[in-house]
Amino acid sequence: MKSEIKLFENGKRLDGRMPDELRNIKIKAGVLHRAEGSCYLEWGGNKVMVAVYGPREAIPRHTQNPLRAIVTARYNMAAFSVDDRKRPGPDRRSREISKVISEALENVILVEKFPRATIDVNIEVLDAEAGTRCAGLTAAAVALVDAGIPMKDIPVSCAAGKIEDQIVLDLGKDEDNYGSADLPIAISPRTGDVLLLQMDGHLTQEEFDKAFDLALKGCHIISDLQKKAILETYQSESGGD
Ligand code: UDP
Repeated sequence: MKSEIKLFENGKRLDGRMPDELRNIKIKAGVLHRAEGSCYLEWGGNKVMVAVYGPREAIPRHTQNPLRAIVTARYNMAAFSVDDRKRPGPDRRSREISKVISEALENVILVEKFPRATIDVNIEVLDAEAGTRCAGLTAAAVALVDAGIPMKDIPVSCAAGKIEDQIVLDLGKDEDNYGSADLPIAISPRTGDVLLLQMDGHLTQEEFDKAFDLALKGCHIISDLQKKAILETYQSESGGD
């Protein structure tokens, strides 16, 4: 697809970023006192709140798995989070995103430790500017740590894509609208296991490899921010030691 607007000016993107640069990211763990774990994350113009509940007995009982916990992520976009007010409630897109995030988290959480239980991850998108599934998953990982849920690793998510024939990191809103491909991924940074991989648009094999490597690079940078946010919360709670 050809861009309808110019997405590059003097080698820089519309918001002044270089092709391999992330938007600004701020992460705060433990922000809600009623949830077992929580996280507030800002990523460019995205604002996301995540609350984690559980592990607790899965109800109704027929949803229980006698061998392990079920992980239910619910991604929800607030009506006021986008330009054209979004009709409240689940739609096809939010069901798809909830499903892929649930599956990604299920693969890192030690679910065998909690038979018959459910771990609920509520992801509320308050402001959306492209990349909300990556923001939601990244925040969910921090909220799960805050809830003390045992995991093999802290998962992290980031996207790369293609705009005007260039591969770039972390598409913004106009880039998502007028660009030609978006490749969100989630990984376990310690093992490199891929937990989520989706692709919107078309990439050649070579472009795909380049975009994947760039998204991986983004994941590792964000992984450090997640750890910093967790340390900040717990160091301040224990009096700064
Ligand atoms: N969007 C919107 N209305 C909707 C769904 C999405 O305006 O009903 C916008 C929103 O800014 C979102 C972006 O389109 O972040 C890209 O959506 P996509 O489905 O690609 O998922 P995301 O990139 O947010 O994970």
